[in-house]
Amino acid sequence: MLSITFLGAAGTVTGSRYLVDAHGTRILVDAGLFQGTKELRLRNWAPFPVPASSLAAVILTHAHIDHTGFLPRLVREGFAGPTYATPPTSRLLRAVLPDAAHLQEEEARFANKAGSSRHAPALPLFTVRDAQEALGTLAGVPFGQRLTLRPGLEFTYHRQGHILGAAAVELRVKVAGGDHVTVYFSGDVGRYDVPILKEPERYPGSTFLVVESTYGDRLHDPSDPRDQLADVINEAVQRKGVILVPAFAIDRTQELLYLLRELIEDEAIPPIPVFLDSPLAREATAAYRACVQEHDPEMRELVRGGADPLAPPNLGVVGRVDESKRLNSLSGPAIILSGSGMATGGRILHHLRHRLPDPSTTVVFTGFQAEGTRGRRLLDGEKEIKIFGEMVPVGAQVRSISSLSAHADVDELTIWAGAPEVAPARVFVTHGEPAASRALSDRLASRFGWRCEVPALEQTVTL
Ligand SMILES: [Zn+2]
Repeated sequence: MLSITFLGAAGTVTGSRYLVDAHGTRILVDAGLFQGTKELRLRNWAPFPVPASSLAAVILTHAHIDHTGFLPRLVREGFAGPTYATPPTSRLLRAVLPDAAHLQEEEARFANKAGSSRHAPALPLFTVRDAQEALGTLAGVPFGQRLTLRPGLEFTYHRQGHILGAAAVELRVKVAGGDHVTVYFSGDVGRYDVPILKEPERYPGSTFLVVESTYGDRLHDPSDPRDQLADVINEAVQRKGVILVPAFAIDRTQELLYLLRELIEDEAIPPIPVFLDSPLAREATAAYRACVQEHDPEMRELVRGGADPLAPPNLGVVGRVDESKRLNSLSGPAIILSGSGMATGGRILHHLRHRLPDPSTTVVFTGFQAEGTRGRRLLDGEKEIKIFGEMVPVGAQVRSISSLSAHADVDELTIWAGAPEVAPARVFVTHGEPAASRALSDRLASRFGWRCEVPALEQTVTL
């Protein structure tokens, strides 16, 4: 008996959680938080459908919170480990999970102070202590090394680009007659020809495939992100304003630092100050520097030449909250990189509250903005945005650099999936808004003749 229950990332891009039952052994592939609309976020509070203590293991694909942020809650509910992750993912999680817990605690405190919660008192989903306990369950598994979970049940990580440490999971399950089947979970698929990290490994084939579809119905803007970034910055510099970049702490921030350094070195933009105002991004940047075995040849070459490829000249790394507040008196042109990437939390909210009304400000989004987030609202042109319970008028210019994505688009997903040695018997298209998942499903079915389906949330399929 082998089944998968899609407990998240079905009909949406967040909350990745796939419950695998292999001959009575329960494994959870990814333990993600739901993010975005209130309806989605409330799902984080729902009781887990099986006792957390009955899970034999959690296998994480990568450190993003929508793939890992539910782990502390699971541990609180009785999951005792092990939680498998690649070593770079483990390293990132040591910063990611306490940071997420800290945000949860802060939000609960704020809701209690403002009386804005219908629950009294408002509680965090999990605490810093829960996060620390979750970290205690981590066990590192290097890429390409087969790990035995139980006799007849093994898994291997394959490099997936996307972010530092990101992996696909190939699960190998023994079936009657001594044969075995494989289930390949794509995780989030990265892109080819982007700086810093090694490229994703192509899909090698498997009996079953679970594939993400964040950009299943779209192509990335083919323009060079360097040109787009230079244009946006030069335009903002003319207005002498501050450029606020809500950036995902992991990967996007490092890619931006890399590109800004290049642009300044090439004199494509003036050497304006760049402030990195995100404790999480600072930690992530240190991890990107340290994990040299993950660097692509170009990055390795730069490091060998003694350069720090992730440090533009005039880089200011902001530490404490009072230093962050001091940026309020900063006048442009200057760049502030700060999290979170969809403006759902983090220090960027303080900067947005302070600078959104000012028409000299430019807000530059650098990635996918999920429905219901402030990022999506700003991009949709809303004239005022709610921050910390108050409406803030939007006078700033809002821009988006669409070519900077950590996710493969529909063509790149097709290339990634393209030529496996073994064609999958069934394909489950997940991790997308409904139209995107349907589009990728249609594409893979028509291009390769694969049997594709888009599972519903909480659906169980028996394989
Ligand atoms: Zn991701």
